[in-house]
Amino acid sequence: MAWYPGATKMELQPESDAQPAIKPTQFILHSIVAPWTPRRTYEYWRDSTNLESHFGLGYDGSLGQFIGTETRADANGVANRRADGTGAVSLESASNLQASDPWTAEQVEAIVQLGVWLHQRHGIPLRICRSSTDPGYGYHRLHTAWNPDAHSCPGDKRVEQFHKVVFPAIVARATGKTTDPKEDPMAGYSQAQIGDAVLHRDNIPAPKTDPNLKKNPKWTLASFIQSIYTAADTVRTELRETRKVLDALAKDIAALRADVAALKKES
Ligand SMILES: [Zn+2]
Repeated sequence: MAWYPGATKMELQPESDAQPAIKPTQFILHSIVAPWTPRRTYEYWRDSTNLESHFGLGYDGSLGQFIGTETRADANGVANRRADGTGAVSLESASNLQASDPWTAEQVEAIVQLGVWLHQRHGIPLRICRSSTDPGYGYHRLHTAWNPDAHSCPGDKRVEQFHKVVFPAIVARATGKTTDPKEDPMAGYSQAQIGDAVLHRDNIPAPKTDPNLKKNPKWTLASFIQSIYTAADTVRTELRETRKVLDALAKDIAALRADVAALKKES
């Protein structure tokens, strides 16, 4: 049984003890179609239904955990627990009564942190589930087997957020790559601008043999490349000329040898 340190533990009984163990291989996101705090969600699971999710997420990012992540929770149809003992970790999130609103920034952040923890703690792979049994990350309506009643859960805006923001952030955070522009000095510069800056920064000491060294002691990378190309071209031309001369010399030597051989025969 595993309890996420970032959540308030609100253990649901008897489910927490009664339901079988799972090996968590998936993380599936839901909207609960009500603007509920984790406490209110806990009370609903406890008093009004025999269903439940592992986690409940409020609008303000507050998170409650009702069932350990290595115990089955009943929110995702057949994905709750499969015959091989694997199953999905589920999160219900506060939404409006139509489940049409996006996750708040606080909700996104809480989901991302929990998603990273699930990768680190349970080895859930950093990919979107390619099938209903494939280990990874997803949302309720992603696969019909998870969603036999064809709910639109978690809603169009949240599905879009999942693909554009939430899942990429889980991957970035879990692999140590950040997308935070404050931590990326290259953010805001185009590839062309960065390329130009590298090529045309005029601060590389000029070659010692350059006749204009005194007048122009610093070169750009672009100047170096140009100069190396021109030098290589000159060498290539000279090599070609040298080869011609050598070929002519070889012919002369062969002719001389023939002459010497003829003279020897005569004498
Ligand atoms: Zn759902």
